[in-house]
Amino acid sequence: MKKIIIAIDGPAAAGKSTTAKLVAEKLNYLHIDTGAMYRALTYKILREGIDPENETAVIEALKNSKVDLIKEENRIKVFLDNKDVSENIRSIDVTNAVSAISSYKKVREMMVDIQRRISKEGGVVLEGRDIGTVVVPNAELKIFMIAGIETRAKRRQKELSEKGLFIDYNKIVNEIIERDNKDSKRKESPLRKADDAIVLDTSNLSIEQQVNFIVKKALEIIEN
Ligand code: C5P
Repeated sequence: MKKIIIAIDGPAAAGKSTTAKLVAEKLNYLHIDTGAMYRALTYKILREGIDPENETAVIEALKNSKVDLIKEENRIKVFLDNKDVSENIRSIDVTNAVSAISSYKKVREMMVDIQRRISKEGGVVLEGRDIGTVVVPNAELKIFMIAGIETRAKRRQKELSEKGLFIDYNKIVNEIIERDNKDSKRKESPLRKADDAIVLDTSNLSIEQQVNFIVKKALEIIEN
C-alpha cells in the first residue's frame, strides 16, 4: 500500500497534536510533532540561563545539542541530549520563549533536516507551522487547521487544568495571539497556509469529526 506524507499546519492550540496523533494511529503512520523539537531546544536554553533573544548564544548551544523523537509505547517522546524531556517542554516558560528560538535560521535548518530525514520514506503525519510550505512541499495531503480564538483558548485552558495549572482565560488568549503573531511575522518560514492546503476549521467539530475528515482524504489518495 502507498505510504503518503500528511502535513498538518496551523496556529497555536488549533488541535493539531491531538488530531495528528489519532490520524497516525488510524493509518498506522508515524506522528511527528515538530513543535516538540523547537520546544526541546528552548527548554535547554532556559535551563542553561541563556537569553532566548541572544541569537549567537542560542546557536552555540544548538551546536552541542541532540534532539530526537522516539516512539515508545505508542507515543512519541522527545529526547534532548539522550534524556526524556517530553513533560518539561510543555511548561509555560518554554511556551512563552519558543517563538524567539524558532525564528533563527540556523535552528530551523537543523530541525528541518531531521524532520525531512525521518519522513522521507512516507507513512508519516507531520504537524507544525511550515510543513506544507517548507519541510515537505510535495506532501500528498496538506491540511491547514484553524479554529476561533475562543475555542482555542478554552481548549488550552482545559489542557492546562488537567495538569493542575489554573491560568486566567484572558492571559491564555493573549499568549496565543502573541505567539501566532511572532510565528506569522518572522522572516524564516513563517506560519502560512500552503496554496494547495485544505483549510479545516475545527471550531465546531469534535475530535472524531476532524480525525475522520483527514483520514477519509488520506484514504482517497492512498487508494487511487
Ligand atoms: O506546535 P507547538 O505549539 O508545540 O509549537 C511550539 C512553537 O514551535 C511554535 O509556536 C513555533 O514557534 C515553533 N514551531 C515552528 N515550526 C514548526 C513547529 C513549531 O516554528 N514546524
